[in-house]
Amino acid sequence: MRRLGSHYVLSERLGRGATGEVWRGEREADGTPVAVKILRAELADDDEVVDRFLRERRVLLAFDHPHLVKVRDLVAEGGTLAIVMDLVDGVDLRGHLRRHGPLEPAEAVRLAAEVLDALGAVHRQGVVHRDVKPENILVDTTDPGRPRAMLTDFGIARLAHGPAMTRLTGLIGTPRYMAPELSDGTRATPSADLYSLGVVLYELLSGRPPFDAEHPIAMLRAHLEQTPAPLDELPGTLWPTLARLLAKTPADRPGTAGQARLELTTALPGAPNTTTD
Ligand code: ADP
Ligand code: MG
Repeated sequence: MRRLGSHYVLSERLGRGATGEVWRGEREADGTPVAVKILRAELADDDEVVDRFLRERRVLLAFDHPHLVKVRDLVAEGGTLAIVMDLVDGVDLRGHLRRHGPLEPAEAVRLAAEVLDALGAVHRQGVVHRDVKPENILVDTTDPGRPRAMLTDFGIARLAHGPAMTRLTGLIGTPRYMAPELSDGTRATPSADLYSLGVVLYELLSGRPPFDAEHPIAMLRAHLEQTPAPLDELPGTLWPTLARLLAKTPADRPGTAGQARLELTTALPGAPNTTTD
């Protein structure tokens, strides 16, 4: 057992990634379960980094959305820098995919629509996620009959119109999910998140990402130059709709997360709201 600040105790490590570790724990006062992301120790060493972290991540506390992992607290104490979140009961989408294999189109579209809902909310606040991928989408299986997508890990998110949330430049994000326009260091826009979600949806439907390569540079080139193999077997107009998310040029993608959501949910046969007048 380990303490965090004066309010939390941590019990078990859930995961470990590029920016630090995620622990299961609880709020001591009332036993509320939490997940705590502890940033790498060297990041907490630098006062300027700590200040910026607290300033820039404060925006996360304000988000309250059914498909965004709720951030409850930011802790900077005794050389530790941490984000306290609601604990999600389930696995991440990578684990979900491993367990279930490719998903039924209706299920894949429902989960993608939930993530688009969450993305719409953050985009409207001027925040770009920048690292949309299966590992950063948790699947809440509290109701096993109806898993819910919960977007998390704004580790490299930044304010779209404000100062960069991180001073890192160049390659940020995960090449396998990265929009083609980012490969020259162009600043990420909401449209880049839509592309990444398109890659995730392709993978949910087919069990494999649209492009794959060993080397990150080869991966980026694939996004720039290769056409994804069509998933012709998909019902309704789902394939052309997904292909629009994967458009090489942002202008050819749906204009907003809300638009993308509408297009996807009306692409399946029998979907409501398909009438035009
Ligand atoms: P990073 O990718 O920087 O290591 P993430 O925030 O993506 O950090 O978390 C890493 C892993 O920890 C996730 O893939 C997930 O398995 C687990 N995890 C993260 N946040 C939560 C949470 N709120 N509830 C449950 N598990 C979580
Ligand atoms: Mg992550």
